[in-house]
Amino acid sequence: MEQLGRSSWTLLHSIAATYPTQPSPTEQADLQRFIKLFGKFYPCWVCAEDFQKYVEEKGVKTGSRDEFGTWLCEAHNEVNRKLGKPTFDCSRWEERWRTGWKDGRCD
Ligand code: FAD
Repeated sequence: MEQLGRSSWTLLHSIAATYPTQPSPTEQADLQRFIKLFGKFYPCWVCAEDFQKYVEEKGVKTGSRDEFGTWLCEAHNEVNRKLGKPTFDCSRWEERWRTGWKDGRCD
């Protein structure tokens, strides 16, 4: 379950990292659908249920790369909090998942 989670977050944050900065209406609608279907089919039913609830309550923000990346980071933080893990500073999601850390470290 841990491996599935890590791999899934890697896929999702990598999608955010390559999502257009100015997405077309079709790209936005496709991403909305993808996230909702992802929540429906995620193969950990408890996780999927909570994720779908989060999506229902907050909506999915797909207006730009930064908007989606920040939304996803906040969704991930919601799970981190639930599991008692440290939360992540969402102003730095792109450093972690796209550009690399500004201070040059490699983790
Ligand atoms: P992960 O949480 O998998 O994170 C991987 C890496 O992402 C981290 O090393 C860090 O560098 C980076 N990161 C951490 N937080 C953020 C953030 N907020 N934004 C950007 N990057 C970040 N597990 C359960 O036990 N119960 C659940 O209900 C549950 N729900 C889940 C729902 C979804 C949609 C997904 C994809 C996974 C869920 N998981 C759940 C799995 C869980 O979130 C973790 O993936 C798993 O516990 C392994 O955690 P990890 O410590 O290796 O790091």
